[in-house]
Amino acid sequence: MRALFINPPVYDFSAFDLWSKPYGFLFIVDLFVRNGWDVSFFDFLDRNHSFYDGKTRKDKKYGCGNYYYEIIDKPAFYRNVPRRYKRFGLPNHVFIEFLENAGRFDVIVITCAMTYWYSGMLEVIKICKNFTDSPIVIGGVYPTFCYQHAKTAGADIVFQGGNIRKFVEIFNENTPFHLNYIENLKPCWNVYEKLSYLVVRTTFGCPFSCYYCGVNKIHPVYLLRNQDEVVQEAVKNLERYRVNDIAFYDDALLYNFDHLRKIVEKITEAKKVNFHTPNGIHPRFINNEMASFLKMYNFKTIRLSVESFDIKRQHESSNKLFFSEFERAMKNLITAGFSKEELAAYILAGLPGQKFEEVTETVKILKNFPCKIKIAEYSPIPGTIDFEISKKLYPELPLDEPLYQNNSIFPLWNFEGKWEKINWLKNFVRDS
Ligand code: SF4
Repeated sequence: MRALFINPPVYDFSAFDLWSKPYGFLFIVDLFVRNGWDVSFFDFLDRNHSFYDGKTRKDKKYGCGNYYYEIIDKPAFYRNVPRRYKRFGLPNHVFIEFLENAGRFDVIVITCAMTYWYSGMLEVIKICKNFTDSPIVIGGVYPTFCYQHAKTAGADIVFQGGNIRKFVEIFNENTPFHLNYIENLKPCWNVYEKLSYLVVRTTFGCPFSCYYCGVNKIHPVYLLRNQDEVVQEAVKNLERYRVNDIAFYDDALLYNFDHLRKIVEKITEAKKVNFHTPNGIHPRFINNEMASFLKMYNFKTIRLSVESFDIKRQHESSNKLFFSEFERAMKNLITAGFSKEELAAYILAGLPGQKFEEVTETVKILKNFPCKIKIAEYSPIPGTIDFEISKKLYPELPLDEPLYQNNSIFPLWNFEGKWEKINWLKNFVRDS
């Protein structure tokens, strides 16, 4: 049996390879491999594809970099957004050439990492249907959070959520094939010929439940992965791909220090690498010992989840950070030797009912600290508490349309002079 797995191109105003890999999808690939299937993989966002050889590839630090893109017409939905709209990823002719040479697949599985990126998935489904009548299975963030919408995408099976046992059940009920459920799957990195970095999860899920977050819908239970398995996965692939950077995808990386420490120590025994925390880590857990540990083990990119210093917002953020805890974390990080270049604080902008001034107040406070400030544009995620609050507060907005969930358009900010103010905010942050 042969299966093809596809990570589609991205349609958006901006996209950047910031240690971006379809990590959860690679576990599904492993499920098929361990059931004896022959698998092929096509990642439109693979910056190590031979298409990039030469001048189209632009690399930045630590293996990150720009995707190939083409500027395209904006959908009518975005006509008032004063930014260029692009298609990021390998051109379709590269994919079609791949399909022409690949032969027949019995099943095609496609993922989609954002609700508002569904156009890329639709494009891929359409191309595949010109080549085959094999069942097409879709999963990932878009079908999970916009299930009804995804049912119109033209796939044969729409899989919602991140429960692999459930995936097996649905697959077996709806195709002529049979998969056995397998415990302890791991990401099947073998599908990549080259990598510029690795990504790793030491846990699944998050013990917190913030109003704006959808993590609990994908991983409802907070689980620690087996430490030896995580270490083996990292060490084997560091060696195989000769990479020096690992980005953690955990949602609450520091919550269990002992678990993290053991994993990091063992990986470092095998190879000294740079660690990165693009998902944001909780400043509350950064005591003296933690800060020294992060420095000693070469954490190079520290992203602190601040969200907002507004008291009301702190409740919506599971009370996971008070200002005094942030101050203490910064003091400990600086004492441990971190520089401003390595530290950044994420703040959320565009939350339901959030005034522009609330964001600027948080920025002003952060400017007193030696860290960069990163604006995380809020995007209303269906199924979250904040999504329901947004629907009540803004009944006139088309929040159920996935394109409207694009964080780049600050969907909930509809005040006069919106884009001038947003540009001002971005400059204000850049000046810090
Ligand atoms: S702490 Fe982060 S990952 Fe966890 S629920 Fe809150 S926003 Fe989501």
